[in-house]
Amino acid sequence: MGKAEPTHTSTLYQAEYGHFINGKWEGSASGEKIGLYNPATGALLSSIQSGNAADAVRAVEAASAAFPSWKQSRPQQRQEILFEMARRMRARIQDYAMLESLNNGKPLMEAMHFDLPMAIEQFEMFAGSAFHLHGESISTPTALGIVHREPLGVCAQIIPWNVPLIMMAAKIAPALAAGNTIVLKPSEIVCLGVMEFFKQMADIIPPGVVNVITGYGPNIGEALVTHPKVRKVAFTGSRPTAQKLIQYASVNVIPQTMELGGKSANIVCEDADLDAAAEGAAMSVVLNKGEVCLAGSRVFVHEKIKDAFLEKFQANLRKVKLGDPTDPTTQMGPQASKMQLDKISSYLELGPKEGATLLMGGKAAKVSGFDKGYFIEPTIFTDVKNNMRIAQEEIFGPVSTVITWKDDEEVVRMANDTTYGLGGGLWTQNLRRAHKITQAIETGTIWVNRYYNFVPGMPVGGYKQSGFGREFAQEVLHHYTLTKSVIINLEEGSIGVFGR
Ligand code: NAD
Repeated sequence: MGKAEPTHTSTLYQAEYGHFINGKWEGSASGEKIGLYNPATGALLSSIQSGNAADAVRAVEAASAAFPSWKQSRPQQRQEILFEMARRMRARIQDYAMLESLNNGKPLMEAMHFDLPMAIEQFEMFAGSAFHLHGESISTPTALGIVHREPLGVCAQIIPWNVPLIMMAAKIAPALAAGNTIVLKPSEIVCLGVMEFFKQMADIIPPGVVNVITGYGPNIGEALVTHPKVRKVAFTGSRPTAQKLIQYASVNVIPQTMELGGKSANIVCEDADLDAAAEGAAMSVVLNKGEVCLAGSRVFVHEKIKDAFLEKFQANLRKVKLGDPTDPTTQMGPQASKMQLDKISSYLELGPKEGATLLMGGKAAKVSGFDKGYFIEPTIFTDVKNNMRIAQEEIFGPVSTVITWKDDEEVVRMANDTTYGLGGGLWTQNLRRAHKITQAIETGTIWVNRYYNFVPGMPVGGYKQSGFGREFAQEVLHHYTLTKSVIINLEEGSIGVFGR
């Protein structure tokens, strides 16, 4: 990729974005920039600051200075800001969808109908929460207990490149509703939509309440998370980064929420509606070109229906329209970066070496007019063993590994035989079986008979090494507040322990 030189003609976004600190746009202390590219064409779109420790410290100081008055703000004010964010985002929904599509490569229509509605919903949902952060009271004849719920203070929030606007909204909406101030670090690979969001919202964010710094994680992470004024870290991204952040968080013993990767099991029983199951299996790895933490990429098919299922699964994948992500008819775009393309390609090479059979796909896809695009063909590996690396490691691309099974106990054991536990799917017409299997699966979310069937307000988060803490639901407010127990004695005078 070329150097970050602004050759800019778009009215949708700027040629360059600064850090957003204390309500102002600033250059980085490093003086260096990072380019944001279009993965369909390789073209430079914009550039962002390459932040460092000094920038992180400035952002934390601004967030810390803003905290005392934001903490005291009226719920109406916090609600109005969150609603206004939702309103403005909805009014420009097509622009934001286009920005996500341009920088990430996700299809425009997918961004319009999946990413943006989900991001907007976060602001709407938590706007209401600003009024519902009461504590509780516990009355006894001799004491009145009051449990207050208070914000923590400055929260460091670090997000990835696959669904940036959803991640940004899921992080900042509850934290703001609860009265915290924020230093947000989006991904240096994809953050065009996020930066444009803050450009548009700058006038409604009180200075210092949300600060946004950009750059390579390792240049910012330690200074940010170990700063003594930071009271919490919320992270979405990969497990190796999480391991570092947990170490940083241990320095000042601050709480953490970690939303990490997955290798989710998608279990197809012999009594399933095979058309629905095959469509769901395809959708689960095609959405966002498989760059979804919840993707059901480990497909467990009952041996009795294997052939019929695979035929329908392939038929669906063959119909997927690969192409220019900004074309409204496109169903799958390019992978988000060269790094991601290379990572997926390495697994495509590994599969046959491990003994898997390549049923379809397996290589880079050619899209006319987009020679530099990072396209990959939807891929199915069969004859996969659950202990192969292609079945255990997160590929984060349009790649399904198919494993067969005979009985429910066996499939539950295999599905759980992974370090992850984030999502999953189950396809059966039998309610008792559905209940038993979903109970036995170690995962934070499992969809029965429709993959990615998000119900607003339901928690999302991991079991095992997929992380800890939950988002997208009211319970996230517990991660952004602390309780304070105040006990007022109702009895008069001293106890008399030492005599009166
Ligand atoms: P990543 O861990 O490489 O990067 C995530 C963020 O962390 C980026 O902003 C990056 O700059 C930053 N970072 C990297 N090193 C850092 C450091 N030392 N200190 C501080 N920050 C640092 O992950 P990614 O490749 O951007 O995202 C893909 C991963 O995210 C996948 O594993 C995916 O499953 C996961 N993910 C999980 C969820 C979920 O809800 N559980 C959602 C989306 C993505």
